[in-house]
Amino acid sequence: MIRKIEKYVLVLNCGSSSLKFAVIDVIEQEKILFGTAECLNSKESRIIYQRYRDQKKETILIKNLTHKRSINFIVQTILLKNLENLNSIVGIGHRIVHGGKELNRSVIINNKILKKIQESVPFAPLHNPFGIIGFKEASYAFPNLKNKQVAVFDTTFHNSIPRESHLYAIPYYLYKKYGIRRYGAHGISHQYVSEKFAKIVKKDIKKLNIISCHLGNGGSITAIVHGKSVDTSMGMTPLEGLMMGTRSGDIDPSIIFYLYNVLKMNVSQIQDILTKKSGILGITQVSNDMRFVENHYNKNVHANCAMKMYCYRLSKYIASYFITMNKFPDGIVFTGGIGENSVMVRKITMDKLKIFNVKCDEKINSRTKFGKCAMISKSDSIPVWVIPTNEELIIAKETFDLLKEKS
Ligand code: AMP
Repeated sequence: MIRKIEKYVLVLNCGSSSLKFAVIDVIEQEKILFGTAECLNSKESRIIYQRYRDQKKETILIKNLTHKRSINFIVQTILLKNLENLNSIVGIGHRIVHGGKELNRSVIINNKILKKIQESVPFAPLHNPFGIIGFKEASYAFPNLKNKQVAVFDTTFHNSIPRESHLYAIPYYLYKKYGIRRYGAHGISHQYVSEKFAKIVKKDIKKLNIISCHLGNGGSITAIVHGKSVDTSMGMTPLEGLMMGTRSGDIDPSIIFYLYNVLKMNVSQIQDILTKKSGILGITQVSNDMRFVENHYNKNVHANCAMKMYCYRLSKYIASYFITMNKFPDGIVFTGGIGENSVMVRKITMDKLKIFNVKCDEKINSRTKFGKCAMISKSDSIPVWVIPTNEELIIAKETFDLLKEKS
């Protein structure tokens, strides 16, 4: 029997307190295993991973895991135990949130590129530094994969956004000289779910108009016309737009002047408030988690308010994106931890869009969670779908294709 030559890509997605990883078989387009190192740098830190084929799940508690220790453990213990041969990993794909002014497509990481990612840190201060750590640690763990590590950017999909939606109404030189403009984020997820939607409805994506709502701890919404992003809610940084787990989303910029001039806060205190203490956490005052908001909706005034604010803002964005298409969309897609699981967020948001002929099928909506993919609207409604995202697959394919092209 001829054995298939295995070609796997390791995907790393490093956040501030978590690190997601996956080993993808690019030929079969399936996950071999995937997992998360959570609560990094705390006593509760742990690694949870699952093998795709037999669904075997394992949780390993290790106190005070850092990014470095997690990557070491993932490679030396989890990968060695579950893959016959580490040499079957032919490349590593890194999710990098922001490519800054210059990096607008996937690239093999070398010193020059690393410097540019470093320069992009002000555009994604909570995200890019951890992508850099991920690359450095992976370089130690896989010395044989020098020049085989690829950066895949969340901003790339939004390159197509036209000027009227990517420029801010501030002096033009700030854009020309310093690159201050809308870049967006979550592009890998928006790309995946829009392509998947086209496949599901068996239509050419070039003929479809889709509104994609990626709602996780961070959240963004994108208008996709004929396969291209034409507007998105995140801005120069991932702080603008929707209300998020701990991020404020849209606010009047003068609030910042008020906090600074009148309340005498310094810049890092203000940044901390808007990025880490706002959003769902800011309103509920106890949790950034939509599960808490759902569970306390009927018994806690703050949770009730957080849910209403979240859905109101989301529905406003969805409705405003209809005008980017000159007609109603062919589909609205929910994805991300909240989009895939929060029956309540989807129902309240869809009800707000009733005047545009968005009709929720409550029965299907209530059973669509935990990785299920389904149309949750009635048959005479604008179609609304829940499509679980798979950013890792896009990152792995980009990595594999780029390495093949350059070999
Ligand atoms: P993500 O960033 O995509 O991993 O999404 C994480 C967020 O999804 C969590 O912070 C929760 O707010 C939300 N979430 C996860 N599971 C559920 C669930 N079963 N119901 C409601 N929200 C959920």
